[in-house]
Amino acid sequence: MTRIVVVGASLAGAHSAAAIRKAGFDGDLLVVGREPHKPYDRPPLSKEFLTGGGDETRLPLPVAAEDRLEATWVIDAVAASLDVSGRSVMLSDGSSLGFDGLVVATGASARLLPASVGVTTADAVDQAPGSTVDSARDRDAAFWSSRGVVALRTLDDARHLRGLLVGAAQRQDPVVVCGAGFIGAEVASSARQMGLDVTVVDLAPAPLSRVLDESIGAALASYMQAHDVNLVMGESIESIDITADRVSSVRLSSGRELPAGVVVVGIGVVPETAWLEDSGLDLGDGPMSGLVVDRFCRAGDRIVAAGDVARWPNEAFGGRLMRVEQWDNAVEMGQYAGRSLMAALEGHHPDEPYRPVPWFWSDQFDRKIQLAGVISDDWHDTVGSPSEDRFVRTYFDGSTLCGVLAWNRPRQAIVGRQLIASQADRAEALERLTPAPS
Ligand code: FAD
Ligand code: NAP
Repeated sequence: MTRIVVVGASLAGAHSAAAIRKAGFDGDLLVVGREPHKPYDRPPLSKEFLTGGGDETRLPLPVAAEDRLEATWVIDAVAASLDVSGRSVMLSDGSSLGFDGLVVATGASARLLPASVGVTTADAVDQAPGSTVDSARDRDAAFWSSRGVVALRTLDDARHLRGLLVGAAQRQDPVVVCGAGFIGAEVASSARQMGLDVTVVDLAPAPLSRVLDESIGAALASYMQAHDVNLVMGESIESIDITADRVSSVRLSSGRELPAGVVVVGIGVVPETAWLEDSGLDLGDGPMSGLVVDRFCRAGDRIVAAGDVARWPNEAFGGRLMRVEQWDNAVEMGQYAGRSLMAALEGHHPDEPYRPVPWFWSDQFDRKIQLAGVISDDWHDTVGSPSEDRFVRTYFDGSTLCGVLAWNRPRQAIVGRQLIASQADRAEALERLTPAPS
């Protein structure tokens, strides 16, 4: 019997497994996952899971619960290495899983605080152990987490963080968030809604500066400040003070000290490719690259990849190499990679390459921020302006629409995405995205 192994039991892995079955695969389908859970949704973890009482009932992914998936879930198991020519995945317990086809969907893990961040205790000044991307990662995460310094990537992280935030609210301890990216902005919003005093620290000049342009970042900063989030931009955390085994304050690069009962670390992710290091597959130019695949999501013979871990040439944007860390891409790329693997097993490739228009949303307080495509320096506001509650900004690459940012304007995000996919020119984009005068 033919066997397909999916490594990574989360969003991309579950959707690739479903696509493989949908394409008629009736062999053995094994899904291997490091976490002790079947696939669940991560977006609620920084939002309603924190503010809404830690409700877990809506987290499981429906696609993974379907009986017709008939998958064997090998969970709480770690893939340690891959033998490409021998078609085998070695697990950390020493066992191995042979395969005829493989999906790599190992996603990404939260970055830890840099090793340069010092730890100060009442009677000693020490250096925190570990670094961002090495095998000591788990020990370091445990070190920080037991002292109230936490990252947020998994359900277990979210359970721990929620407990810490509830405790901090009772004791009226302030929260410091390191990083003003997605995690930082969303956790700050949730913690404020839980009544906590929150300060966000980032080296960047404005929140979400990796994905939004300067003036939108400035609008987001004003919006967060209007909800009493303290923003300290252009600074980083230099050291963390621990008193009686708990974080008590942080010291910033300027020397300023902020009291803290909880520190949330949201400084980005590292793609999970360490287990592929000796496989001979193309891991690009460093730890942030991800697994490089072709336009059909193929990493090698009968091996495909999808989701946060994968980097591919996106023909919708002139073949630009992209690695997208967003929910929608993990679903679509997972489905596509599943179909592509089935085609490879039958000796061909899909008719169309994988060429999506990336899209994300972020909920903060009562705002829904959505971006379809990519931003550029050439932009035009078609509805309202960043000083208003609702607005739409369009971005152009030459005469072609390449991005649409919709701030509390969900319909325009959908239309914008379709227009980017059809490579609409400036005139058509402005006409379709500018409301008719009433
Ligand atoms: P992951 O979800 O990272 O899953 C990979 C899985 O593989 C993990 O379970 C991991 O444990 C497992 N794994 C890794 N290595 C191994 C190994 N060696 N062996 C076995 N298993 C392994 N996106 C949005 O667009 N909008 C949002 O609002 C949004 N909110 C988010 C909120 C939070 C708190 C987080 C963490 C993410 C959010 N995202 C959001 C991003 C989105 O959830 C991710 O892009 C998506 O989860 C990626 O899916 P994936 O399957 O590629 O990877
Ligand atoms: P992120 O969006 O990449 O943001 C990380 C931020 O931290 C960046 O602004 C980064 O600045 C900053 N930073 C890096 N090192 C720092 C340091 N030492 N001190 C202070 N700031 C530092 O990552 P994230 O917010 O941690 O999110 C993690 C993942 O979850 C991402 O994949 C994200 O896409 C996903 N997520 C998505 C959503 C959503 O789409 N709504 C919500 C939550 C999470 P530089 O860029 O200058 O390094």
